Amino acid sequence: MTDGKTNFINGEWVASQGGATFASTNPANTDQTLGVYARSDQRDVAAAVAAAKAAYPTWRKTPAPARGALLTKVGRLLEERKELFSQAMVDEMGKVLVEARGDVQEAIDMAHYMAAFGRLPNGSVVPSERPDIHCSARRVPVGVVGLITPWNFPIAVPTWKMFPALLAGNTVVWKPAEDTPGMAVLLVQLLADAGIPAGVVNLVTGYGEEAGAALVEAEGVATISFTGSTSVGKQIAGRCGQLMKRVSCELGGKNAIVVLDDADIELAIKGCLWSAFGTAGQRCTAASRLIVDSKIKAHFTARLVEETGKLRMAPGADPAAQIGPVVNRTQLERIQGYVAIGQAEGATVLTGGTPLTDAPLDKGCFYAPTIFDNMRPPMRIAQEEIFGPVTGIITVDGLDEALAIANGTGYGLSLSLYTANLRRGMRALDELESGIVYINLPTSGAEIQLPFGGVKNTGNGHREAGWMAMDWCTEWKAAYINYAEGSE
Ligand code: NAD
Repeated sequence: MTDGKTNFINGEWVASQGGATFASTNPANTDQTLGVYARSDQRDVAAAVAAAKAAYPTWRKTPAPARGALLTKVGRLLEERKELFSQAMVDEMGKVLVEARGDVQEAIDMAHYMAAFGRLPNGSVVPSERPDIHCSARRVPVGVVGLITPWNFPIAVPTWKMFPALLAGNTVVWKPAEDTPGMAVLLVQLLADAGIPAGVVNLVTGYGEEAGAALVEAEGVATISFTGSTSVGKQIAGRCGQLMKRVSCELGGKNAIVVLDDADIELAIKGCLWSAFGTAGQRCTAASRLIVDSKIKAHFTARLVEETGKLRMAPGADPAAQIGPVVNRTQLERIQGYVAIGQAEGATVLTGGTPLTDAPLDKGCFYAPTIFDNMRPPMRIAQEEIFGPVTGIITVDGLDEALAIANGTGYGLSLSLYTANLRRGMRALDELESGIVYINLPTSGAEIQLPFGGVKNTGNGHREAGWMAMDWCTEWKAAYINYAEGSE
């Protein structure tokens, strides 16, 4: 769809009311424009919210098993269109094909997982203090939910929000990232094809400060579910606080892998490569700190650099590609800026440290996988999220120091520890301050039946996925029913 009619409001594809548009480009070849999209403003958001409000009473009363059945249909359609979606994601976001398929698969899994919730118990019967009083507590939808999502998982992240919200009986207004509007259009068209009633899901494409901010402000939106950077998340959460609007934030990370002296080094290296360089490091769970025991550091470092040298960087459509481009030129420059900061702070580049400028990669936003040595905990590169294929090695002596450094950032999403010793692994599980802990596994690779989210600056306590996903998109309603004689 390239005519700018990319807002989906009340079941119709429409242009922005002001007629403004923006373009998306291919990060592997920034000369290639992929599509033209509606650049929405407050008026478009208001229309989308009005449609969602109008659709809410009927959707809320649609039996939960019927809402679940619709999600099953959505899951099946996603299976049918998996390849189409994956190829489009490669073009628009830059992920390599195998990872793009994984992104879509997470949406398929979530559709089927959530569909089953339509037939599961909802709440509980609670004993009363009094005779002949029936007490119960049940979940009810919150109303219209506003979703604001990033570009790095352009199908998985939105569906992890949308499917639980829909199953619970909410209606949706979605503002996707400006780098991946094409994926949003594909997904919403699929929902329409599956038979989602008009107004139940509405899409407004556009920029964060315009359409996104308008959605946060919009009257009638009961909750905002946001995934993105910590700085924007804090802004949105602050505003929602003033408006007394519920808000759920999934934000950045500064994840680490600890490699102890008894670890299986080859297993750890495999995990570090995937965690640091998968999706070109553009994951909230990317490991940008490798905390390595001094006894094994020399061998670990030599092997890691050797294996990093074998990674193939190419446009994601190339079947041999292992690392694709980063999402846009601004991001490329930001990564380069962090590498310069690291060098100025005294860290040394062991490999990488530059954009790739040889043809054909010069047409895209490719950055060489980069490893710093001599990273120290107070450095900015050891504290701030870089969101690119850049990691650094911090040398430690033993478990205590490793755990203290792993915990020593303002973030808390995903931490991993490699060891052959169960006691050490269990201690790490107890003491690591993060929403997700891995033992002998990379920091990335979430399964949809477990809660996903972080602590500290990574979020405000909500979780996506698992049955806990119901928490952010529902309210509890308590009921007291008197059936004593004479009450009829
Ligand atoms: P971003 O914060 O720049 O943008 C995210 C979304 O917010 C986009 O849709 C954007 O248009 C919108 N936005 C921007 N400014 C806004 C404003 N003032 N008001 C309302 N909306 C606004 O983040 P990004 O660059 O798209 O994504 C990368 C970030 O997302 C990283 O920090 C990453 O760690 C984080 N992330 C977190 C998780 C998680 O679950 N914890 C998952 C994926 C990505």
